[in-house]
Amino acid sequence: MPPIRYRDDMATYDRYDPEPPELLDCRRCSRLVHWRERVALEKRRAYLDDEYWGRPVPGFGDSGAAILILGLAPGAHGANRTGRMFTGDASGAFLFPALHRCGFTDRPLAEHRNDGLQVRDIFVTSAVRCVPPQNIPTRGEIIACRPWLEREVQGLPNLQVVIGMGKVGHDAYLDLLRSRGRTVIKTRHPFGHANESTMPDGTTLLDTYHVSFRNTNSGKLTEAMLDAVLLRARHLVGI
Ligand code: SF4
Repeated sequence: MPPIRYRDDMATYDRYDPEPPELLDCRRCSRLVHWRERVALEKRRAYLDDEYWGRPVPGFGDSGAAILILGLAPGAHGANRTGRMFTGDASGAFLFPALHRCGFTDRPLAEHRNDGLQVRDIFVTSAVRCVPPQNIPTRGEIIACRPWLEREVQGLPNLQVVIGMGKVGHDAYLDLLRSRGRTVIKTRHPFGHANESTMPDGTTLLDTYHVSFRNTNSGKLTEAMLDAVLLRARHLVGI
């Protein structure tokens, strides 16, 4: 692994303004609204003293980023509890140390939306912003949430590489480009770990298996595999 140059001028994640009231109040998907609020009310025993977020979870990161991680959805007792994508569950416990190892954050752990985490050169979001039952959003819910994804992507003027974290994230980016009028033939861009495709707008779609507990616990995705993708993204954008 090449040495990573850690920087002391990292941006706090709220440098980007991703939280318009319309997003935090969004109730477009009735099934997901019901689920996110039910989970927040019932809670998991380990988090009974926590006040769950229970709302749409915005993306976060560096608005100057050239790299975007595009995942699936908030975790029920992770981001739906903490209010920040990938934070507070096994997925985040795997992802954030990797982001730190690869020079994107100032620390290996992230706990909640107000923990002061500093992020540089990367932005993190998901295809849908509300937790779905069984972590499976419907196609209609993904489509309904696309305008919020579009807004976040538009807020990244330097974007060059999209890391599709799992097939849902991969497909969400292809569909986003299609919704912009780009000709994207999905069969030419199959999802697969470390697959890399140049998109019609010049961006690169780089895949990784999702950092879900199932994948990391089974060894389908290892630390070395994720680091290699993150470092490949850095190489592609020249940082
Ligand atoms: S998933 Fe997206 S579109 Fe649906 S309610 Fe949540 S924020 Fe709104």
